[in-house]
Amino acid sequence: MTRTMTLSINGDRLNQSLDELAQIGAKSDGDNGSCIRRLAFSPEDLAARDRITQWMEAAGMGVRIDAAGNLIGTYPGVDPKAPALATGSHIDTVPSGGRYDGALGVVAGIEIARLLQESQIPLHHPFEVIAFADEEHTMVGSKAMAGTAPTDPERYAPPDNEAIQDCLVRVGGDWTRLTEARRDRSDIICFLELHVEQGGVLEAVDRDIGVVEGIVGQRRYRITIEGQANHAGTTPMNMRRDALTTAAQLILAVEDMAKHYPGEPVATIGAVTVWPNAINIVPGFVEMKMGMRDLAEPVIEHMLAQFKRKMETVAVATRTRIRIKPELELQPTLATNQVQDLIVESCQELGLSYTHLPSRASHDAQEIGKFTDMGMIFVPSRDGVSHSGEEYTSPQQCIQGANVLLQTLLKLDRYYR
Ligand SMILES: [Zn+2]
Repeated sequence: MTRTMTLSINGDRLNQSLDELAQIGAKSDGDNGSCIRRLAFSPEDLAARDRITQWMEAAGMGVRIDAAGNLIGTYPGVDPKAPALATGSHIDTVPSGGRYDGALGVVAGIEIARLLQESQIPLHHPFEVIAFADEEHTMVGSKAMAGTAPTDPERYAPPDNEAIQDCLVRVGGDWTRLTEARRDRSDIICFLELHVEQGGVLEAVDRDIGVVEGIVGQRRYRITIEGQANHAGTTPMNMRRDALTTAAQLILAVEDMAKHYPGEPVATIGAVTVWPNAINIVPGFVEMKMGMRDLAEPVIEHMLAQFKRKMETVAVATRTRIRIKPELELQPTLATNQVQDLIVESCQELGLSYTHLPSRASHDAQEIGKFTDMGMIFVPSRDGVSHSGEEYTSPQQCIQGANVLLQTLLKLDRYYR
């Protein structure tokens, strides 16, 4: 065994730091116990950023804030001109968030810097830990870094609907210089993010670690169905043009299609509005919102084509007019194969079980993966719950994830030399 293989992070200190961070923004969540409200750019977010900064500095990192408000700690490498190996995640939360979503990835990165400092084990590449600005609402931090951030400030809706310009100033960023936050592969060679799964797959298959294959692409559509509103008492069944029963056929068709599609795409009609929505009127108009997600763009395309064919036959059969309009299109971001392989190797060496899986939620890694090599490590979420005070990943699971992060980073440091 090499010397680096025996290295492992200080698990107690990792969990103690997670506890400390969880106190910033902690609040009661009624019957659900406690949760965390640490909205991006809020006083709680600022307090957490201060704490993170102190930890980074104590771990021997140089700390800066870029124009997009990303908090970046850099631990020097042997070759200061080499591109950085980066890790990190976010410390902002949703209004009733949990203590692990985002926080684990940032705290684990800092714990690795502490270990590098104590052990005096040199890395060839500079090592960056990034706490991205506002992951939960605008993703302004990671998007600006990837050069995908919208240039129109109106397109941002930060929490509390404050102007993005003011939000950025408060955390030390600068909207007018947003493009300066942009990075490329020549200065970040690889980004590796540790995150809680926020789903129930790892628990269901009883594995310690998830090796993320990529972040799924997403499409959202607005579907409208135009029938004819009419008297629900006097209109015979065979003379109706009922927009709601038409909608029902489409809702079931979407579910059936995604269930039986090869692979594991998901498709959902999650919002339906009915007009006039009255007991005595045959529904005349329906608006629905449909979402589709998969790791492979062609799968989404095929499902969409299949759905459109179904739409046409249903429209003829029901004598309604059905329209579909795209509202959102996000490309999938695939994790780099070599990075996935090194995560697997690390799991094997640490004696941890693992499985490959896609991420169906958005993460900072999906933006960073657009310009450089990227990998993600998942640890289990109890009952698949997140964005809730109930979110739980055991101290042991957090330690395992951080050790996989550490070992993979050490391998990446050799791989990119
Ligand atoms: Zn997150």
